[in-house]
Amino acid sequence: MTQPVLHLDGVSRIYSEAHGKKVTVLDGASFEIGQGEMVSLVAPSGAGKSTLLHLAGLLEKPDAGEVYVGGVPTVGLAEDQRTGLRRNDIGFIYQFHHLLPEFTARENLMIPQLLRGISKSEASSRAMELLTYMGIEAREDHRPSELSGGEQQRVAIARAVANGPKLLLADEPTGNLDPETSDRVFKMLESLVRSTGLSALIATHNHELAKRMDKTVTLKGGKVVEMKF
Ligand code: ADP
Ligand code: MG
Repeated sequence: MTQPVLHLDGVSRIYSEAHGKKVTVLDGASFEIGQGEMVSLVAPSGAGKSTLLHLAGLLEKPDAGEVYVGGVPTVGLAEDQRTGLRRNDIGFIYQFHHLLPEFTARENLMIPQLLRGISKSEASSRAMELLTYMGIEAREDHRPSELSGGEQQRVAIARAVANGPKLLLADEPTGNLDPETSDRVFKMLESLVRSTGLSALIATHNHELAKRMDKTVTLKGGKVVEMKF
């Protein structure tokens, strides 16, 4: 059997609040995503979706358990190794685009590639290829503030895959868009993932979109459980 692209093994995350109060968000959660698998994560606000995605994206460390990315245990890795994995193997899409405001759409797609050591011309042509795939090549020279919400998210999606990651993590990527735009952008995201054979974990509140994925999981009592519609 091939290694899962992502494997959370008995992961716990406990936040300390004021007055020493503790909130257990994840409590021994285990979960895997295989190669090319698209999984949706559906759970109410405050259930721990973002926490789970941050742990999977190596933005945070669990208080217990292990996070394997491509079979590699990541908890004990040095911060620069975690950054390397994050930069090369993981793409992240947030609910709000988090694009760099001073740079154009094309530059926003080039920057992560340049940080990885790709040449300027190669990064530029890959950026255009992705903008074209997302149907926004005509917006290449626009800054984020000159783009619509749907266009901003399309750039953010393209940026997340610019370095050809193995795993895409999306935190309510269309949660900030009107229903029609959300539907269109989500389907583009889906088609991009399917065409590249990427694996993806996508948090969403939209059950119709969630159902289109290979599998849907939710959070119950701090554990990840499969959800049947
Ligand atoms: P979701 O994304 O499903 O809405 P989150 O993962 O953002 O949920 O949050 C889960 C719970 O953890 C919430 O109760 C939230 O208040 C708490 N939480 C999240 N981040 C922190 C933090 N940095 N410090 C303290 N509590 C936090
Ligand atoms: Mg959240």
